[in-house]
Amino acid sequence: MNERPRTPRVTVFSLGGTIAATGAGGDAQGDGVSPRLGADEIVDAVPQLGGVAELETVAFRQIPSGDITLADLVELADEISRRFDDGVAGVVVTQGTDTIEETSFALDLLLHGERPVVVTGAMRNPTMAGADGPANLLAAVQVASSAEASGLGAVVVFDDEIHAARFVRKTHSSSTGALRSPSAGPIGWVSEGRCRVVLRLARLASPVVGPTGVIPSVALLTVSVGDDMALLAQVEASGYAGLVVEAFGAGHVPARVVPRLADLATRIPVILATRTGAGEVLQGTYGFPGSERDLISRGLIPAGFLDGPKARVLLSLVLSVESDIDAVRSAFANFNASVGAPITSHGS
Ligand code: GLU
Repeated sequence: MNERPRTPRVTVFSLGGTIAATGAGGDAQGDGVSPRLGADEIVDAVPQLGGVAELETVAFRQIPSGDITLADLVELADEISRRFDDGVAGVVVTQGTDTIEETSFALDLLLHGERPVVVTGAMRNPTMAGADGPANLLAAVQVASSAEASGLGAVVVFDDEIHAARFVRKTHSSSTGALRSPSAGPIGWVSEGRCRVVLRLARLASPVVGPTGVIPSVALLTVSVGDDMALLAQVEASGYAGLVVEAFGAGHVPARVVPRLADLATRIPVILATRTGAGEVLQGTYGFPGSERDLISRGLIPAGFLDGPKARVLLSLVLSVESDIDAVRSAFANFNASVGAPITSHGS
């Protein structure tokens, strides 16, 4: 007699967001929609899930994704690790798309195992025609339960595409195709219910190990034309332990801003990212005052290909275990070096 293959166990954690949002009376009337559904209700709305995995649900938070904190995510990562210890094959996290690019990246840094961690959400809430939450959840569970997704780190599954957490960004305020990876493209897709991974990622070399205490606040400032960045004077006074600057193009700021930035970089880590939304900050091309060469020579730390919000996540988590500026510099250098490193074997 043939033994039936065991159905993989997958845990679905709900955090809120549009995928969980309805009006007070269950529709969109009145005061608009807000997160009201828990993981059970989100899962129950997709009967096809029963044929894919044995699901267990955890209503972890019920909030708009802008209210999620890094401390919430450290707690979530611990809870996910416990589920993996307990034998689940994969995990799905449902949440708002507003911060999915940051939360998925934080989980990527905090979790170091082989089994899939898939984050998804919806752009159209359940009261709307063509709500995308059910299809996204089904695809997310198909990926989370697939051996093909092993060793990818955290991914975002959305609109039947699989995006690496380190590259994905929300690029549109309302389109169902809002989640994109402008620098790298998707690493795979879901087709006829099958998870297809076509690009394998290098493992991150220096994941953050064990943030347990308070996660320090890190500021994110974007430079714009004609700005003198007077807010820089408030950064330390406001209690920020670090700063990420989203600079022009390849990593440039107005020359008049340089002395303030350089001064700040002697006391707290100041990360140089690009505001362009794709590509990486350069390190050795331009030589004018305020150029990337000038800023790096004055102590700013290049973010590499990480955009401002993701650089801020990495800096915050590193600062929760290390306060030394040189340790932060090494963490960013190691992170970027590992992403460009050749893959020596599958999943290693
Ligand atoms: N459009 C957002 C979402 O997809 C709004 C709410 C949120 O991010 O929580 O969920």
